[in-house]
Amino acid sequence: MSVRLANPYRDIPGHWIRANFHGHTKANSPCANVPLNQAAQMYHDIGARIMAVTDHDVVTDLETMKKTYPDMIFLQGFEYSRRENLLFIGETVPPLYEFTLEEALERAKGLLTIVCHPQPRKNEIYWTYEKILALGRLPDGIEIFNGHYGTPFMRAKGFIPQYTALWDEFLTKGHRIWGFANDDFHEMEDFNNAYNMVLVDNISIQSVLQSARNGCFYATTGLKLNRIMEHDGHIAVTLETSGLGRFIGPGGKILKESEGCQFEYQATDEAYLRFEANGSTGRLFLQPMFSCGVGGTR
Ligand SMILES: [Zn+2]
Ligand SMILES: [Zn+2]
Repeated sequence: MSVRLANPYRDIPGHWIRANFHGHTKANSPCANVPLNQAAQMYHDIGARIMAVTDHDVVTDLETMKKTYPDMIFLQGFEYSRRENLLFIGETVPPLYEFTLEEALERAKGLLTIVCHPQPRKNEIYWTYEKILALGRLPDGIEIFNGHYGTPFMRAKGFIPQYTALWDEFLTKGHRIWGFANDDFHEMEDFNNAYNMVLVDNISIQSVLQSARNGCFYATTGLKLNRIMEHDGHIAVTLETSGLGRFIGPGGKILKESEGCQFEYQATDEAYLRFEANGSTGRLFLQPMFSCGVGGTR
């Protein structure tokens, strides 16, 4: 019996390029301490080809950066900060922070929208499943890893960087929502400690936004994917370096776990399946595949 999965990576020949979708600059975010030109130079030097600038409730001008680094794609954006935070990213982004968050999302057609650090501390209520649903329009994704909250300094203050439990809650309840890893760049300590690898058929703004909104990317803190193949529900994952890999299904249940560079799983009737791994070079999170029989709701 063959199983059909909705696989966001299926049949897309192209290039994996590195993207930062969440970062701040000294001039426009009081909490950040690196100027835009220095930040752009740093991302350029490590091979990032996509950089979104998401200052708090302001859309930062990127025209000079576009001229200085013509081989990079700069995306406009802002981090909605008048209440629980949410990223708005696009080629050009209007000042939607002037609206309520519900209205801003309503007007965000074509933009990439991502819930920020949803559960930043153990005993603090921030974003919850109910609050996100109450927005009316589901954002494209949530941060499943926020690197700024993963620095030794922030961890010592009680912050938590990983939010996969909330992701599994959405997926288990039938919502198709993607998981992003962002460094939330504020300072040298968080620079480059989490990012996304986006699969695009050509290196253009539209292609990047389309892949990010369709789940055609993976999230990582350094561990890299070599290959993801899926055929008739048989999933094969190859990593560049070894790690402890897990296939996870509804309820966040671990369905299979092993160590190495190669992992395989045969889907049966799971409503969704996702893969994550943890190794000496970091963590990696693939986007979920959904059973076509069950389907999802948004
Ligand atoms: Zn900030
Ligand atoms: Zn931020």
